[in-house]
Amino acid sequence: LTTPILKQPLRDLSAEELQEKIKQLGFPAFRAKQLLDWLYKKHILKAAEAKNLPKDLLKALEGVFTFSSLECAETLKSSDSSNKFLFKTQSGEFIETVYIHQGGERHALCLTTQVGCKMACRFCASGKLGWTRNLSAGEIVDQVSWAIREIKAPIDNVIFMGMGEPLDNFDNFLKAVRVLRAEWGYGMSGRRITVSTSGLIPAIERFAKEAPGEVKLAVSLHGTTEESRQRIMPISKAYPLKELIRCLERVEEKFKRQITFEYILIKDLNDSVHDADRLAEIAQRLHAKVNLIPYNVIEGESFERPALDVMRRFQTFLKESGVTVTLRYSAGSDINAACGQLRLIRETEKKGSP
Ligand code: SF4
Repeated sequence: LTTPILKQPLRDLSAEELQEKIKQLGFPAFRAKQLLDWLYKKHILKAAEAKNLPKDLLKALEGVFTFSSLECAETLKSSDSSNKFLFKTQSGEFIETVYIHQGGERHALCLTTQVGCKMACRFCASGKLGWTRNLSAGEIVDQVSWAIREIKAPIDNVIFMGMGEPLDNFDNFLKAVRVLRAEWGYGMSGRRITVSTSGLIPAIERFAKEAPGEVKLAVSLHGTTEESRQRIMPISKAYPLKELIRCLERVEEKFKRQITFEYILIKDLNDSVHDADRLAEIAQRLHAKVNLIPYNVIEGESFERPALDVMRRFQTFLKESGVTVTLRYSAGSDINAACGQLRLIRETEKKGSP
């Protein structure tokens, strides 16, 4: 069951669909071009902002569509120049988008694709309230236009690593990717877009088949044995590690871009030298690079972050094995920037939980 969206987001429509709609309303095709420009180059959030379009066209569109499917409910600024936007959808759910200033002119955005998540990874706050519904393509890209307006700078890196499993919302995710890449859309290069998956094997295969090389792929590994991975990622009971690696070996070439493994370091669970050894072997087989992420404590879980010297040793081991590896602290830990944490707090407040 999905919660109904009150009005369809205008950014749900592709350029062709928008042209068709405008034709149906009795207006010439060049009006669609003008509207695309307002939507994707000037990032309007209200019909009235599209100054050179006829009022009756805007009124007709407003009758059916919304120019912004989101409202910014809260913005939290972190001391390390990342922001977290808490958006409210038309049906009143909260979603999160994290903006990261990567220095100079580099601005990255971490997008949400679902309200909640079915995957229930134990290190992640997004899975704690379960899954409510998929976001539409327009709701996904509205996050980009909102952020550009807020930060007053273009976004040049997009990571599908906010709330939700992007490949579990396959069609809307792919439509959003194509709006991000389209000349008439945000005009971004696929090299600047990364999708992060928890390892849904059939969806990875479909993605490799339908969109080979369109964007970069990151896979949340977080464990180097079936046992350790299953302890923190229930999804790996359905799609075991061994099969995931086999799947990646099959599709690696189609992606045309180096795969990244995300690996959250958790004390005494996946941070041993044996883990580092197995991780190095997997990364080498797939010519992949590795992002190590120190565990961010969330309420209700007893996991701990390893000591800094343990994490550094783990990183050095991989490096010395010839693997490209980074150890990155998630930006904005002082504003609950890790996936789903702020939403979890706000939703819990809403429900009046103790
Ligand atoms: S880490 Fe990603 S896939 Fe796992 S529960 Fe969180 S949002 Fe879902």
